[in-house]
Amino acid sequence: MLITFFLRVCEGTIFFGKMRLHTHLPYKYKKMILCKKVEDITKFITEKAANGNIIGFVPTLGALHNGHISLVTAAKIQSQLVVCSIFVNPTQFNDPKDFEKYPVTLDKDIDLLEKAGCDVLFLPSVTEMYPDGTSLKNHYDLGYIETILEGKFRPGHFQGVCQVVNRLLDIVAPDNLYLGQKDYQQCMVIKKMIGLKGLKTKIIICPTLRETDGLAMSSRNMRLNDTERREAVIISQVLAFIKKEIKPGYLQDLKLRCVHILEAEGYKVDYVEIANADTLEIQENWDGKTKLVALVAAFLNEVRLIDNMLIE
Ligand code: AMP
Repeated sequence: MLITFFLRVCEGTIFFGKMRLHTHLPYKYKKMILCKKVEDITKFITEKAANGNIIGFVPTLGALHNGHISLVTAAKIQSQLVVCSIFVNPTQFNDPKDFEKYPVTLDKDIDLLEKAGCDVLFLPSVTEMYPDGTSLKNHYDLGYIETILEGKFRPGHFQGVCQVVNRLLDIVAPDNLYLGQKDYQQCMVIKKMIGLKGLKTKIIICPTLRETDGLAMSSRNMRLNDTERREAVIISQVLAFIKKEIKPGYLQDLKLRCVHILEAEGYKVDYVEIANADTLEIQENWDGKTKLVALVAAFLNEVRLIDNMLIE
C-alpha cells in the first residue's frame, strides 16, 4: 500500500494518510503488531507466553528517541517477544500544561519501533487504561522514596506512575521490564511497587543514552529552541563536575556551587542533590565509600529537565 503511513489513535479507527479505515486492532504494520484493546493484547501475549516465549516490556510515553530504542534493543537480546507501549498517562502529570505540551510523534515512533524489531506495540486509549475514570483508586505505600526529589517537587507523580505501570504489568505480564537509569528515582519506585504487589516481573535498568555533547536524551528536549538546546548541556556538565570534585566530608558547599552555576545560566533549579545510590537517602556528608548518585532537576524556561550520574 503506497500511502504515507500515519496512524492516529482513536476508538476503532486507523488513519492512513487521509484515508480513514474503520478497522479492528490488532493491526499488523510490516512485522509489528499494533494493539489498542486490552483484550486483544492479552490474548496475543498469553498465547506466546504459553508457548514458552520470554516476554520483554518497554513502557513509554512516546515521542521516542534512541534512549527508548536502546531499551527495545536490550529487550530483544533477552526476550523472544518484545512489547512496547505508548501511552501519555494523564495521572502522572501533576502540571496540566506539561501534559498538554507533551510531544506526540506517533507515525515516527511506529517506524522507529518497527526498525528496532519491536514485536508488539500497545497503544491504549485513556478509557482502555482507566475504564473507571482517572481519579486514583489505589494508594501505593511508597514511603520515604516518594517524599524526596521528584516526589517532593511533583506531588502525586509517582502515585500516577505506579497506577499506570501496575495496570500495564497486569495486562502484559512480562518476564522482564526495561527501564532507563535516566529516571533513577522512577526505577526505584517501580521496584518498590512490584515488591508491594508481589509481581513476578524482573526489572532491568539500562544506561542513560546521551547526545554527543552529553545532554541526556529526552522527549522533552524536542521542546527546546536552539539557544536552550545549547544551554541544556550544562545539566550534564554540573553532574560531571560533582563527580570530579566530590571529596569525603560535608557536601552542602558542592551542591550549592552547582545550584549557583545553573542559576547563573538562567535555570530555575528544583534540586541538585547527592544521595545514597541504593536507598536514595540524601547525603549531607560522604564517608568516601558509600556508592552515590548525583541528581539534578531544573527548568530551562518552560522545559523541566532531569538527569543523574552515578559516583562510584
Ligand atoms: P518516557 O517515555 O520518558 O516515560 O521513558 C520511557 C522509558 O525510557 C523510561 O524507562 C525512561 O527511563 C527511558 N529513557 C528515557 N530517556 C532515556 C535515555 N536517554 N536513555 C535511556 N533510557 C531512557
